[in-house]
Order: sequence, then structure tokens, then C-alpha cells
Amino acid sequence: MPLQHKPIMEMFDTRVTVFGAPGRYIQGQGAWRLVGDCAATLGARAVLVIDATIRDMLAGQVEENCAAAGVDLQILPFAGHLGANTGADLQAQLDGPVAAVLAAGGGRAIDAGKALAERIGSGLITLPTVASNDAPTSKNFVLYEDGHRMLEVRHLMRNPDFVIVDTDILSKAPKALFSAGMGDALAKKFEADACFNSGGGTMFMARSTRLAHQIANTCYETLLKHGAGAWAVVGTGTVTDDFDAAVEAMILMAGLGFESGGLSLPHALTRGIPLLPGGGSVLHGIQVAWALIVHFEALALEPPPELMRLYKIFGLPLSLQDMGLGAPSRAQLAALADATLAVRHIKNMPFKLEAQTLVTAITRVEEKAPNRRISV
Ligand SMILES: [Zn+2]
Repeated sequence: MPLQHKPIMEMFDTRVTVFGAPGRYIQGQGAWRLVGDCAATLGARAVLVIDATIRDMLAGQVEENCAAAGVDLQILPFAGHLGANTGADLQAQLDGPVAAVLAAGGGRAIDAGKALAERIGSGLITLPTVASNDAPTSKNFVLYEDGHRMLEVRHLMRNPDFVIVDTDILSKAPKALFSAGMGDALAKKFEADACFNSGGGTMFMARSTRLAHQIANTCYETLLKHGAGAWAVVGTGTVTDDFDAAVEAMILMAGLGFESGGLSLPHALTRGIPLLPGGGSVLHGIQVAWALIVHFEALALEPPPELMRLYKIFGLPLSLQDMGLGAPSRAQLAALADATLAVRHIKNMPFKLEAQTLVTAITRVEEKAPNRRISV
């Protein structure tokens, strides 16, 4: 009988704790010069899946570094829609077998690279060019239908072999994307707290390790300490210690924190928000930022003042209107609640969340938003 292992999401349960991480995480100015040497450890042929909009700017240096390390590189610009066929479409364009997929760009190009790596069973190197989310460190990737609505979260057996974060490149990325990454990262501590305290399942379906829980805490503390300073240089091409610290929190700590520490209501709400008109076009991290305010309200807690100050600095949303979404109808809110409550992370709450409780929390968040804006 051929050797067959279970899919990763069926291997573990909450009787055990599991901690997962990328093989190597490398961050610094000019870090992409190491791409070739890292790729060479995986094999002689690799493919670069790169966001088509940055191909002209960045593919050349990856190609040069790979050539210098003796790695033959095929380049596949990714412009398309990230859907159920993405992995197969990219595979059909391969010139021959490759030992590694190098995935460069924002969340979607990285996820497209993961979809290809899953199909061909290759090694994986992620090369984020923006700090808009923590996809680069994690094993999971998201596929969409109709362009925006989440179809499926898929899971690689292992995290990327290498994550190479070049802070020179990230420092030139647009402020709006950094702001979204901040929203995504700020929620991680509160989601990991909920999962840890409830003994719920992480992204490995296992219990959270104490370490992952602490990493999520450190992520939050790092952002409180360095977030405002980092914001001052975002988009300027200058790398400061604050910027470097914020990037490490947003990509490495947030990634480890959610994967091995678990998620909760904020990320569950990202399944519901796209059901509102225009909701699917709101960046993931911006959705998470608003959803974190709902999370506090559902727990009958006020968001901490220091968190609200960061929301103001980063222009993060306190209401649906701040996200550019109008006032939803009762039917739309009910649909949002149903979709949210169907996500398994919702079990990582200290009590069973009912649809009406969630709708009431959202309504209160909308009512409180004007006062919150004034008081920070
Ligand atoms: Zn997220």
C-alpha cells in the first residue's frame, strides 16, 4: 500500500499542543540578496511566482541572485484571480520540474505561490513586498470565488522553508497596505487570548502553546511601542529601528501568533463582512481592525485607550462607515452573523456566541463610533 499521511487539519486535536513555524525567517535591509543561496538549498531549478505589477521592478534581482547561486529560474507573473484553479493554471505554465516555488508580492501573489507549491509538492520561499498581512510565514492560503468572496482556506503540510523580508523593499510600499497589516496584526493578541483561555483549537486544530500565546502578546506590545514611529517613515524608503520592529511584529510575530496561538471572532467576521455590499473590496486587515472592535463589544469590554490611539494614527476603522460601507439592513446583518458563526474560530470565545448577541454588538459599535473618534 502506498504511504499516505492524513491532511494536516486531520492530524491533531486539542489533547495536544502544536507549534509550527517557517524553516528560516530572514529580515533586513537588502535581505533579498540571499534568495539565491536559500533557493540553492532546495534544488537546481526554481520558479518565481511574482505579482505582475512589480515584475519589472523586482524580478531581475531575484533572477541574478539565483543565477549567481547556480539556480535556474523560470518567472511566472501572477496577475490573475486567486481561485480554485490558480495552482493548476500556474502548473500548466511550468517549463519542467522545479524544486522550489519563490512567491513574491502581497498576500494574493504569495497565496498563488503556495497553491502551486501544494500542487507540485515543492519547497517554498516567500518574498513579501508589502507588510499588509502575515501570509508569508504561515502554512495556510486562501482561495476566492467571484474575485472577493472567500471560497476556501487551504493548508500546506509545512510552513515555507524560507521567509525573506527585505525591509528596503517594504519601506517603499504604500501606506494603505501597511495600515491594513497593522489592523491584521493588532487583533492577534486578543484572538490568541480568547483561544488560549477557552482551550480552543488553533490553526493546527490543536491547543495553543504557551509560547505562541506569548508571541501574540509580544506582537501587540511591539506594535504599541514602535507602531507610531514606524508609521512616520512608511512609504519613504527609509528603514528605522521602529520600522524594522513593526515589520517583525506584523509578519513574523503575527504569523506565529495566529497559527499556533489561534484565532477568534475578528477573523471569523472576515467571512461575514464580504456579504455586505462592497465588503469584499475592503482589505483583509481593515476588516479585521473593525472586527476587533466588535470582538471587544461582544465581550462587553471597552477597547484599551492605547489601542484606540493606534487606530487614530493608522486611520483604522471604528465603524462600517469608516470602511466605506453603508448602514446594513437587518437581513444583511443576519446573513453576516450566520456566515460568521459558521466559522470554527467562533468556538474560541469564552461563551457560545448567538447571532442576536453578535448583531447587537455590531449595532452598539456603530452607535459608539462617533464618540470614540472624538475621545482618542
Ligand atoms: Zn489575518
